[in-house]
Amino acid sequence: MNENIRKRNELLAQKVIGGLKSRNMTGYYAESKEEALKKALELIPEGSSIAMGGAMSAHEIGLVDMLQTDSYRFIDRDQAADKREAMLKAYDADVFLSSVNAMTEDGVLVNIDGNANRVSAIAQGPKKVLFIVGMNKICNDIDAAMKRARNVAAPINAQRFGLNTPCTKTGACMNCKSPDTICCQFLITRYSRHADRIHVILVNDSLGF
Ligand code: SF4
Repeated sequence: MNENIRKRNELLAQKVIGGLKSRNMTGYYAESKEEALKKALELIPEGSSIAMGGAMSAHEIGLVDMLQTDSYRFIDRDQAADKREAMLKAYDADVFLSSVNAMTEDGVLVNIDGNANRVSAIAQGPKKVLFIVGMNKICNDIDAAMKRARNVAAPINAQRFGLNTPCTKTGACMNCKSPDTICCQFLITRYSRHADRIHVILVNDSLGF
């Protein structure tokens, strides 16, 4: 990576980490995907029960593969015969893994959801929530973060799931009320009531979308 980009990301990450601290959340900076994986495994004790929402970034650093071993109790909603039961179990998990659709420089997290299993578990339930966040998700302020979530992340996710929404045809959010919309719930996490619950690993890389 270009040294100037690396330096910018490191400086910006320190600002984000300061913002998280002021909001009773904890941030870390990882120079690479490998460093992010190492940090994530330090934060997840062996034997933990683990659930996840949409977390492409966790896949991209190799974390999900590591957690689907006998050393952890991974709740795999996709493989579960009873998906509702798996979703309910997720609320009692030791660790919930997620990414963000966007995040502000001062530490506010923005997530959009269709079924709301992800945003509801972020809001409450699991004992610890661990976010893996590429520096491409950091936005200047809450307006920019909402725009990113709605105009970049949501249309790409709708495309990924093959949904019949206007954004899969135009590439931009049309503020739809389509039955297929994935924009049913918006969660803005601006403070954590519980110390040591929300942890964010910022990765010096472009992860997810
Ligand atoms: S509101 Fe509709 S058009 Fe906009 S991003 Fe969501 S699904 Fe796509």
